Amino acid sequence: MTTKGRKDTFEEPRNFLITGGAGFIGSHLCELLLSRGHSVVALDDLSTGSTANIKALSNHQEFRLVEGSIVEESIVTPLVEEVDVVVHLAAAVGVRLIVEQPVQTLESNVLGTFQVLKAARIHGKKVLLASSSEVYGEGTRVPFSEDDRVVLGPTSRNRWAYAASKMLDEFLALAYCREFGTPVVVFRLFNTVGPRQTGEYGMVLPRFVAQALRSEDLTVHGDGTQTRSFCDVRDAVRAISGLAETAEAVGRVFNIGGTEEITILELAQRVTRQLASSSKPVLVPYSQVYGPDFDDMLRRQPDLSRIRATLGWEARISLEETIDALSESIRQSQQGRS
Ligand code: UDP
Repeated sequence: MTTKGRKDTFEEPRNFLITGGAGFIGSHLCELLLSRGHSVVALDDLSTGSTANIKALSNHQEFRLVEGSIVEESIVTPLVEEVDVVVHLAAAVGVRLIVEQPVQTLESNVLGTFQVLKAARIHGKKVLLASSSEVYGEGTRVPFSEDDRVVLGPTSRNRWAYAASKMLDEFLALAYCREFGTPVVVFRLFNTVGPRQTGEYGMVLPRFVAQALRSEDLTVHGDGTQTRSFCDVRDAVRAISGLAETAEAVGRVFNIGGTEEITILELAQRVTRQLASSSKPVLVPYSQVYGPDFDDMLRRQPDLSRIRATLGWEARISLEETIDALSESIRQSQQGRS
């Protein structure tokens, strides 16, 4: 990997704790770190993560899964003590879950991060905190840059609970770094997609691919003119591992995302064309999916100059390749179930 920044002492294998390690992104990160010779403990409560995601790793000598909750101090603290670096990915997943279970979302996002940081401070460990492009809220100045000002929707609309909880996580992490010298790095993921992702929590690409494979209508929310920039999970985890290794990243916030901006309607058309599916896009009002008073983000595109300048990182995998890999993984999991 091209790493321009000053490197930490990562020529030696390290011990990592990946919270949410059995999740979609976590499992890819575990895989990458193991392939680079590191040891990995994954902590996951298997609520949205699954053992199927880490099946290929289960016999790896340097891998271990601990099933437990990120909010339990008695579980988190000894694991943090055991490792060199923590990548804190565990969080509530997907807009749908957030709208339906706001209490659980807020509790696990905020209390989980607090436990990780407290333990990291006590034991002097490095923490990489996963945040989200949700924190850009209703931002209209596209692309979104890490130090942009932010406008969130009102507290009466559940969707913004996720953004607010992730902002609080970021404030906490940066405060631990400033006040106690805990080495932290914050990264904001933008629409991460790829193999092993499930549509169960509302994410658009796996839903469209599964619908196209079943020759069902593709459910486009709203008028489909809202845009997103998708980034393949295999590129995203390469960026996360690069940030873990780069001393210059400490105390800072980084966007991780793709460069191509695409409307959701175009995405639906791209999926059906590429998979040669007879499915058609249909427009579904937001109120039908998320209930009344739902705010969507109209555009969401990352400014990637900071991560480029610090790591020399670029996403390499095209949306086309991602759609192929995702459809293959959805086919396999459907076969596994039947
Ligand atoms: N979306 C859609 N159909 C679906 C699922 C999602 O049109 O079946 C839309 C969703 O309303 C949003 C975009 O696709 O405008 C991206 O949704 P996702 O939940 O994947 O990510 P996020 O909203 O966090 O960007």
